[in-house]
Amino acid sequence: MNIISISIPQSLEGKITQTNNIEICLCIGCKTYLKHEVLVDIYHTHDEYDGILTMYYNHRILRCINCDLISYQDKTVNSEYVDQIGEEDDGTPIWEENELIQVYPLRDNETAFSKEFEKILPEEIYSTYEEVITALNNKMPLLTGLGLRTLLEQIVKYFGKFDDLGIILTQFEEDGYISTKQRALLDDIRYLGNDAAHRADPKSRKDLILHLKVLENLIQQLFVYYKLEEESQKK
Ligand SMILES: [Zn+2]
Repeated sequence: MNIISISIPQSLEGKITQTNNIEICLCIGCKTYLKHEVLVDIYHTHDEYDGILTMYYNHRILRCINCDLISYQDKTVNSEYVDQIGEEDDGTPIWEENELIQVYPLRDNETAFSKEFEKILPEEIYSTYEEVITALNNKMPLLTGLGLRTLLEQIVKYFGKFDDLGIILTQFEEDGYISTKQRALLDDIRYLGNDAAHRADPKSRKDLILHLKVLENLIQQLFVYYKLEEESQKK
């Protein structure tokens, strides 16, 4: 990306500092942690409780050094909250200020979608997978539940020869592609989608992440192993 200009309002004249700051954060373009160049950094403080407490704020525009994707970062530090991160040789504690960092669009370490799935999934299934991650990262449990169910249906129907999800899963179980335990977890995802659709009953984030992991596992099994076996049978 070739940046043409960054405009700064006149009211900020005399308050501009040149920096070379780099922040490391999860890039949703590259789907991994990478250095980001800080293009703009607005820094201000705010005293609270008659100066007992000071809040430090940074509002930053970041650019990934690999893919140029732009993100926005909010960083808040509270002067009262410090964490001990170690000790000097003489036992003096080493403190670090406790930072609260949020990067937008929202992204999440637990669900940092892996490039691997983009490589192994057909395009239309990968696009559902990405939507599920976006819904999960943006704290939309109902849509995540519906998305997980749709994703399960797309994955299974890609390989199954029937229209009924239950029949295909039974077939997979009989052929040994999934275990009985896994079958039960996949049935949970079917009902999870039904609950989300008919009873507006959202599940907890922990549950949703668990079910996402179950589906990621299934993707590995079917798109890697099943496909390999199919290809070797053709030869
Ligand atoms: Zn990137």
